[in-house]
Amino acid sequence: MNKDELSFEGKLLHSPYSKPDAYNALSMPVYNSAAYEFDSAEAMESAFTGKSTDHTYSRITNPTVQYFEDRVKAITGAHSVTALNSGMAAISNAIISIAQTGSNIVTSRHLFGNTYSFFVSTLAAFGVETRFCDMTNPEQLESNIDNNTCAIFLEIITNPQLEVADLKAISEISKQKSVPLIADTTIVPFCAFCAKDFGINIEIVSSTKYISGGATSLGGLIVDYGNFDWLSSPKLHGLAKDQGLNSFTFKLRKEIHRNLGAYMTPQVAYMQTLGLETLSLRYQRATDTCLILAEKLKELPEVVSVNYTGLSTNRYNEISQKQFGDRPGAMFTFNLMSREFCFDFLNKLKLIKRATNLFDNKTLAIHPASTIFGTFTPEVRKEMHVSDKTIRISVGLEDVEDLLADFTQALR
Ligand SMILES: *Cc1c(COP(=O)(O)O)cnc(C)c1O
Repeated sequence: MNKDELSFEGKLLHSPYSKPDAYNALSMPVYNSAAYEFDSAEAMESAFTGKSTDHTYSRITNPTVQYFEDRVKAITGAHSVTALNSGMAAISNAIISIAQTGSNIVTSRHLFGNTYSFFVSTLAAFGVETRFCDMTNPEQLESNIDNNTCAIFLEIITNPQLEVADLKAISEISKQKSVPLIADTTIVPFCAFCAKDFGINIEIVSSTKYISGGATSLGGLIVDYGNFDWLSSPKLHGLAKDQGLNSFTFKLRKEIHRNLGAYMTPQVAYMQTLGLETLSLRYQRATDTCLILAEKLKELPEVVSVNYTGLSTNRYNEISQKQFGDRPGAMFTFNLMSREFCFDFLNKLKLIKRATNLFDNKTLAIHPASTIFGTFTPEVRKEMHVSDKTIRISVGLEDVEDLLADFTQALR
């Protein structure tokens, strides 16, 4: 059977190891080793200078982590995959690979809290500018791009606003301006969204979320689709242009990721490989429940509004359908009358957990304004459209009736 013709699950479950295991272990062994021994000085030289692909040191590569990367490569059709130890490590490693003093990133204010802080505080200190625009307005995006723009960065469904930009339109601008499109796709996993089909060049995923399989561990992925012509982009300094389509991965793997030292650890790669195996099953269950909850909550008198792009009444429903089909993430938000009502609701919950994080097997509730965005000034929260009246729900795998009962009693 041709491996390329297998289904998503087939590719996922049957990616071969790069070398056969000595004991024919059916699960990938966890190689908890910092370093690797060599038969000769010559073999060592080859490995250290990149003439062979043998492992040298686990900050750089590790067989268990590589197996996890290979599986993600098999299901995404990517050119290369790099696994880091958190979603933020993936974002920072990817951006630092292409940004330098004087460059700018064009993005939206609708960003994950730490990404926003990484851009406006950490990167700003190194002279990298962040330009905010409305990603749903292609002309505004285009007018913010100039000769020093090193990336367009966006989240495919923003959190907690749940805004959906038109990826095909943005990817057209990215091609025309020769600026790579980097997208954080954490909210919709690989089984429901194919980044390559929408012209995304570099995909970032916090694998802490769906992939870890029940919040077992932190992780992040940088997925390079090898579909950006780095040669056409003279503004991207420091990339090895002789590497062609591999320029970004070359810089990332040979320099940035080694120097920043945030590679995934083997134990985590093992857990996340297992999580990956049940990804689409869990996603189906959680998104089925998510839609039912969003619909039911809309009918409760205490609920002012419900925001989920899977609802036919949602302003982004059409574009969301086009890009993510019927399953646009297992997360929704709803608004209550006031911050006090939100706190009261959270305090009354009996089954649903008061916690941050997304896509645990357990359903989680949080008031984003006072927590994730709690240290931001009210002005910044307002600019980011993070409301005091919003509750965010990450839907888990519980029975929908049990969840509805908890919502109903806590809202009363
Ligand atoms: C959680 C999250 C991140 C950060 O990932 P960590 O694994 O927590 O570092 C980035 N982007 C989005 C959309 C997230 O939900």
